[in-house]
Amino acid sequence: MSGEQVEETKGEVFKCQRCGAPLDISPETIVAICPYCGYPNWMSQAFIHPIVVVPGKTRGLDRIFHEWLSIDDEMKHLKDKVVLKNIEIIYVPVYYVSVSASSHYRGRATVTLTRTRVIKTDKGTRTKVETRYVTVHVSGDYQASYTIPLVARRAADRRIIDPLIEYYYGFLRKRESLQVPIDKVDWKEIKGQVLAPEIGPKDAEDYARDQACEKMYKEVENRMNNEARERAALMSPGWIPTFVSWHYKIIPCRSRIDNITPIILLPMIHAYYTYQRRLYRAAFAGWDGRKIYSEEPVTQGARIISYIGALLASGILGGAGLAGIYLGGEAAIAGGIGLIAGLAGSYFLTREALKDVEVEELE
Ligand SMILES: [Zn+2]
Repeated sequence: MSGEQVEETKGEVFKCQRCGAPLDISPETIVAICPYCGYPNWMSQAFIHPIVVVPGKTRGLDRIFHEWLSIDDEMKHLKDKVVLKNIEIIYVPVYYVSVSASSHYRGRATVTLTRTRVIKTDKGTRTKVETRYVTVHVSGDYQASYTIPLVARRAADRRIIDPLIEYYYGFLRKRESLQVPIDKVDWKEIKGQVLAPEIGPKDAEDYARDQACEKMYKEVENRMNNEARERAALMSPGWIPTFVSWHYKIIPCRSRIDNITPIILLPMIHAYYTYQRRLYRAAFAGWDGRKIYSEEPVTQGARIISYIGALLASGILGGAGLAGIYLGGEAAIAGGIGLIAGLAGSYFLTREALKDVEVEELE
């Protein structure tokens, strides 16, 4: 019945187990990485998994942005009217999961075949298209391996993060080691916000299995269609197979996890800028400054507005979803930036701000 206990249950303040600093925790957080000392505070023993960091640039963020402005074919013409409003590094937790999938598939299909014949008549020739149907059985074995990248967050703006994790995958494949175990990182050098992982390794593996099976399913479907056509063609010399209609198709999926990486904290440089009072975003890989995503003012030609729904729905990185803030002028933008600093991770762009946005992605 000590006072301390009462305080603890009432306040629900989580503190870093190493340095005692208060931790910002949401119900989804599986590990809170202390912003002061970098210590990973696990919410449950069941989640414990290695964490590595790809250290991001700590200086010269503005320069990366301005370099892009002066190099980009479109932006270099606009750069005099561009104002950089906010730029920061955000560490995004990701996994790469290697999965082997296999299937013993089977099915029965009716294949439509056609043949064109030239018929001679008194008045010359005419062509006649004939159709026939052949029913075939198809079965076989299929096996494939996939690497599934995934963000350890419940909600994420995939349009920014997918190019980031794809770009980093190139480094992983080349075994260029940019990763440092979290306990070896000089945490004072890590400047930026770390998004708390929300998906544990077990869930990540389940998700990766599903994704791998989905990919395999599509590949097997293609293969089965081709096999059905080939088989029908063999039974019908001179006929060309066209349409395949399946009576049934069974594609079971067996999956096996070959490898799961540690939780990798990938640095992303995230910028807001204005052009003629409208707000846009750009993002760069935090380790080398390569541009991975940008929204650019459309100066001529097509307007791409179909992204609006996706942008409004997703909320960057799954932060607090805020309704749009009307960007009435510089004052409103300044207010918005204040909020960004406070809530980094959330974003808010209005329809107004998006009206003339063109989205450019990596490759
Ligand atoms: Zn700490």
